[in-house]
Amino acid sequence: MLKKLYGVIGSPITHSMSPHIHNDAFKQMDYNAHYHAFHIEPDELEDAVKGMKALGVSGFNVTIPHKEAIIPLLDEVDEAARRIGAVNTVVNRDGVLIGYNTDGKGYVEALKEVTMLKNKRVLIIGAGGAARAIFYTLAKEGNIQIDLYNRTACKAVELIQEFSLNHLAKGISSKEAVNRMKDYDVVVQTTSVGMFPYTEESPFPLINIKEGAVFSDIIYNPIETRLLRDAKALGAVTQNGVSMFAYQAAFAFEHWTGQLPDTDRMKNIVKVQLGGISC
Ligand code: NAP
Repeated sequence: MLKKLYGVIGSPITHSMSPHIHNDAFKQMDYNAHYHAFHIEPDELEDAVKGMKALGVSGFNVTIPHKEAIIPLLDEVDEAARRIGAVNTVVNRDGVLIGYNTDGKGYVEALKEVTMLKNKRVLIIGAGGAARAIFYTLAKEGNIQIDLYNRTACKAVELIQEFSLNHLAKGISSKEAVNRMKDYDVVVQTTSVGMFPYTEESPFPLINIKEGAVFSDIIYNPIETRLLRDAKALGAVTQNGVSMFAYQAAFAFEHWTGQLPDTDRMKNIVKVQLGGISC
């Protein structure tokens, strides 16, 4: 039987870890397929999507900077991806390209590894694409009170209004975030602050935190951001972005094949690619 082809489109794409984890999962599950990274610039996106369809590519991931721009180019977009306003996974179902977003679901699955969510008070830092997916998915879990802080404060308030979640979410300033840090059970860092090479940067200083608080940063390069390091020193349980990356990939894989791959194996591959050790 002809090998199926999958891939990821984005720019830059050279250092993408997706080919490593998906090709390993195909091999592990004896699935006759290959996953390839395609460098696509914004002015090539429309042709690239048509090309994927014409070539019969079975599915692909979408990364920076195309997650929003691809929406009008697809045949169908599922409800969550449409509301989030971003697609990171496309399935080619008999010539019909369908868009999904697995970032939010992947993140919440990762967070559940380190904490239960019911009745928790959560602070989300950021209001960009990843924050939108995480906020939307977390809010749907119910019984979670969410505060949202973003450098551009109006974006946080608009996000809450757009999702009509005013009853359980509130936009706050950085001063409020710092002063109220002791109230939060879970702090979710979704901005690019602290990402390589600016590894000494942090969204704000941590003075005191709630006992047993969970600090989760979706950045995975470096493995431990300044925020996580500071939070750990104050006694927090910390989580980096590797688990989210593995779960969003696993849910994409499930959309394509109907099977969930081994997420621990995916996490180890990412850690090894980042120069860590596999265990
Ligand atoms: P995005 O849409 O461009 O949003 C960027 C966010 O970061 C915005 O809230 C922005 O605030 C904030 N920001 C940027 N520079 C800042 C600064 N100097 N000070 C304060 N805030 C700043 O990006 P994204 O797609 O959401 O991605 C954000 C991060 O998540 C990236 O590091 C990405 O690698 C990571 N990510 C990880 C995973 C994973 O699987 N682990 C998945 C997706 C994304 P303004 O609104 O004020 O500009």
